[in-house]
Amino acid sequence: MARHPNDNNQLMTAPLLEIQNLKKHFPVRQGILMRAKHFNQAVTSVDLSIQPGETLGLVGESGCGKSTLGRCIVKLYKPDKGKILFDGINISGQNKTENMQYRKSVQMIFQDPLESLNSRHSVEEILLEPFLIHNIGDRKWRNKRIIDLLDIVGLPSGAQSRYPFEFSGGQRQRIGIARAIALNPKLIVCDEAVSALDVSIQSQIVNLLLELQAEFKIAYLFIAHDLAVVKHISDRVAVMYLGKIVETADSETIYKNPKHPYTQSLIDSIPIPDPHHKIQRKILKGDIPSSINPPTGCGFHTRCPQVMECCKIEEPRLRNGTQQHSYRCHLD
Ligand code: SF4
Repeated sequence: MARHPNDNNQLMTAPLLEIQNLKKHFPVRQGILMRAKHFNQAVTSVDLSIQPGETLGLVGESGCGKSTLGRCIVKLYKPDKGKILFDGINISGQNKTENMQYRKSVQMIFQDPLESLNSRHSVEEILLEPFLIHNIGDRKWRNKRIIDLLDIVGLPSGAQSRYPFEFSGGQRQRIGIARAIALNPKLIVCDEAVSALDVSIQSQIVNLLLELQAEFKIAYLFIAHDLAVVKHISDRVAVMYLGKIVETADSETIYKNPKHPYTQSLIDSIPIPDPHHKIQRKILKGDIPSSINPPTGCGFHTRCPQVMECCKIEEPRLRNGTQQHSYRCHLD
């Protein structure tokens, strides 16, 4: 089970990662001249922080902007506005040396290991790559480190000479994890890292991530649409809807006392493995609106079971703006 951040005073220390007012919109190009007439407003005004060694779960439906946010953090996308501070330093103005150091410190695990691993490279070549890019160690040291990494993630000896397609989905994700931890990162962005796996394999991978965190003090941004998985691994949870964070709290609070109707709907949708357990479910109706033309006022008002007239006009401000529990809703 994940630790509570207060258990080791994580909230008292300076954040490892701090995101301030981040915005990332993608132009939607149309016509013969491919002019950008509209923008996909993937991420708008996002503020978040992650403490050293902490797991922040980031949940929301597909298309809510959570993967875009993760990709901004690992510099796969350049934000349009706002700041990302890592160890207190703005990552947008880094020189080449600082950039290389940042790329060592922040890694990513992708949803589909088969797509993210080069299928024409053996496991050895895949795991060798980070050391070659960063010019770390000699041949003997690298070979030993690769064997150690395979052992750490629970892959059999001899796996280094095989190719990704020769492994099961769970084993391939272990290769992805081995690559992610190769350079001793401080933060790993896990982008739907267990979503494509069977439930039994999901728990094995989540447990492996927890073991690695305990041993190497790695912080995770754990992106998922499945709140049940996020509950198991996260210290804190941030809920995202239509490019904005609508609620943030520590894991226990958000599951026991969700304030935002969207969070309540997500929690209600978690299956309970007990046929006699009857609860009043508030199942969400309709799809997430287009982020090209988002609704006025509260972005959730087109689906909210508790919508009021003011919700259609006025965007709710952040309530209880503390690090412990904050949410965007007009309801008291
Ligand atoms: Fe629902 Fe209104 Fe709250 Fe938005 S502000 S979540 S529409 S009650």
